[in-house]
Amino acid sequence: MKKGIHPEMVDCTFKCVCGATFVAKSNKETCNVEVCSECHPYFTGKQNNAKRSTKIEKFKSKYNLNK
Ligand SMILES: [Zn+2]
Repeated sequence: MKKGIHPEMVDCTFKCVCGATFVAKSNKETCNVEVCSECHPYFTGKQNNAKRSTKIEKFKSKYNLNK
């Protein structure tokens, strides 16, 4: 690699909204993510595991359509 043109690679602590943290290499020291391998349905096998609400859910709760 050419010297002096690449950002420095450091251990970055990734923080997910589900509470999980993990360390990976990045050029920043901390990074916040919305979804990670702990809470993504692809890895958990469950739907809606993460506490995220869609616009449809917000609309339904606004007009009391959640039954
Ligand atoms: Zn997560």
